[in-house]
Amino acid sequence: MMIIRDHLVRHPDRCTHQAICVPVCPTGAWLSTPPYKFDPSRCLESCRLCLDACPSQAIYGVFKKGEKLLEPQKKTG
Ligand code: SF4
Repeated sequence: MMIIRDHLVRHPDRCTHQAICVPVCPTGAWLSTPPYKFDPSRCLESCRLCLDACPSQAIYGVFKKGEKLLEPQKKTG
């Protein structure tokens, strides 16, 4: 069964509200006013511009296997 990226989440404790993710997004998926909500219908699954642009690594993907959402992997180290 394929695993696909379902949506992105901005971690509230890591985000510093610099909104770097907003202008880098080619589709405007991050809304440009606080609290910078995310519109998953605009996100391109193969794109990761905002994940790579965030200096706080505050954005992460939530993946789905079939209909089941997978828990985010905890970072070690
Ligand atoms: S992954 Fe790409 S398309 Fe999706 S929200 Fe981030 S910058 Fe926009």
